[in-house]
This record gives sequence, structure tokens and C-alpha cells, in this order.
Amino acid sequence: MPDIESVVAEIAESLSRRTDRGKVATYIPELARVPIDQFGIAVFMADGKMFVAGDAETPFSIQSVSKAFTLTLALGKVGDRLWSRVGREPSGDPFNSIVQLEYEKGKPRNPFINAGAIAVTDTLLAGHAPKEALGEILDFVRFIADDDTISIDEHVARSEKQTGFLNTALANYMRAFKVLEHPVDHVLGVYFHHCSIAMTCRQLAMAGRYLAFSGRLPGQNVSVVSSERARRISALMLTCGHYDGSGDFAFRVGLPAKSGVGGAILAVAPGKASIAVWSPGLDQNGNSVLGSLALEQLAKAMRWSVFGD
Ligand code: GLN
Repeated sequence: MPDIESVVAEIAESLSRRTDRGKVATYIPELARVPIDQFGIAVFMADGKMFVAGDAETPFSIQSVSKAFTLTLALGKVGDRLWSRVGREPSGDPFNSIVQLEYEKGKPRNPFINAGAIAVTDTLLAGHAPKEALGEILDFVRFIADDDTISIDEHVARSEKQTGFLNTALANYMRAFKVLEHPVDHVLGVYFHHCSIAMTCRQLAMAGRYLAFSGRLPGQNVSVVSSERARRISALMLTCGHYDGSGDFAFRVGLPAKSGVGGAILAVAPGKASIAVWSPGLDQNGNSVLGSLALEQLAKAMRWSVFGD
């Protein structure tokens, strides 16, 4: 088996020479002004060692990667009842698409497209004021990452709100069909804020440990979720984590992973590693170009594809 430390260093080195890096997200100024020439990687291994390279300590907006964490919390809160409100099928449409909501009476296809994540956020508001629900999400992320310094970028959250016309449309559509039970502005307020959590690759790789290691934090006697739940969330990451690029990502990389338009991808090699990559340039589906390439090279070198070596 190749040495992970040199594999990680070589990936960062070879990607630093790439000129084709896609385009940064431009829908809000905070993301549009992030320099494209950045790349970070962090790999947390089963033995507790962490290997990092590039800009692994630079904070970025985790955006839709947060949807893996809110899904975990919602399943903890309502269990399988969640699936009466949100489906489990890949959408084959862009992350902010509204078309399928019409065919399915306001029920989103899966928890990782925007509509699905907004419905998931709605369940987290049950019995809570928006501030409390948001506090619960942030506490959870800090707990799984073992880092109390993680916080929300309020500038990003404000911009998300100011430009969130499509998300508002999705939320209103679902509210009309009673898929959302809480006021649209409450649900979107929490959704925009959890998308605006800022983290580094190192923090994100720490946060993904419970998904990579059967629901547990390795080295600690702590169970975050059952192994069945970790497995199921990972299955959804594999089939839906990259929107309409999920099939291609599974083909190229073969790991469950969740991407965000900030340029981050959280990937898990079950039983082996929790991996965070970040580079702000995106492809046409809103997935990090260098991040996907890095994971493709890593999975190949380490023979980590879930489909075999
Ligand atoms: N905040 C973005 C949105 O709601 C998140 C999208 C993403 O990361 N794919 O549109």
C-alpha cells in the first residue's frame, strides 16, 4: 500500500500546476472574490493520524456540505419518518431545480438538493425557535469536529438571504403542499446560516469521522450515530452528493461524498479515512474541479473505491 503522506503531498504538488480550475461561484460577492488558485486536502486515518497538504488550514464556506450534517441531525430527531417528506432518489437535475417538486406534490427527490435540505431544516425547527435550531446545528458540527472555534460567516449568510430568490421559491412551493410546517422565513434563515458555516479542510475531515468509521469517533469511546445510519447517509452521499454530477463522480472516484459551491468536498473511505478537499473553482454542476480530481487520484492510489480495488 502506498504511503499516504507522500500520496497526499504528490496530489497537492501535481494539482498546483493545473491551469484548468473551473470557475468560482459568483451568486454572492463573498464567494466570487475567493481567489481561485487555492487547494487544500486533509485526510484523517483510522489510526487517528491526520495528513494535510496545500491550503488545509484556510477557512472556506462549507455550503452544501452542511446538508450531510443536518440530515444526520434530522434522522436523530424524527428517524425514518423523515422519508415521508423527503425522497431518496438522485434527481439528475441541478441542485436548485424546482421542476421535480411539481411532479411529486412538493416532496423533494433527496435531502441533498436544495429543496430536500430545506425540508430537512424544517424538521429541525420542530419545538425550536430558529436561533435554537441553528445553535443545535452549530453545536453538533463543533462536537463532531472536536473544535469549538467553528463559526458562521454572517456576511455570507446575509448575502445568501439577499440573493436567495430560488430558494425562497422552493420553500414557498413546499409550504403550499405542507411539506414545510414552519414559516418560510424561519426555515430559510436557518438554512442560509448552516450553509454559511466556515471550516478548514482539517476541521471538515475531523467532522466526517463518524461517517467514515461506522458512526463512531475512532480512538474515543463515542458513538455519534448507529453504524446503520452512517451507512445509509453514506449511500445517499454516493448517489446524490454531487447533484447531476453524482453518476460521474461515482464512476471516477467511487467514494461517498458531499460537495458544496464553496468548493469543498467531504468524502469517506468506509473504515479507512475521512477526507476533506477544497478548491473554489467549480465545474458546470457546481462541484469543485480540483477537489474531484484530487479525490480521483487519492482513491486510485490508495485503492479506496467502495467498488473494489
Ligand atoms: N447556499 C447555496 C444555495 O442554497 C448552496 C448550494 C450548494 O452548495 N450547492 O444555493
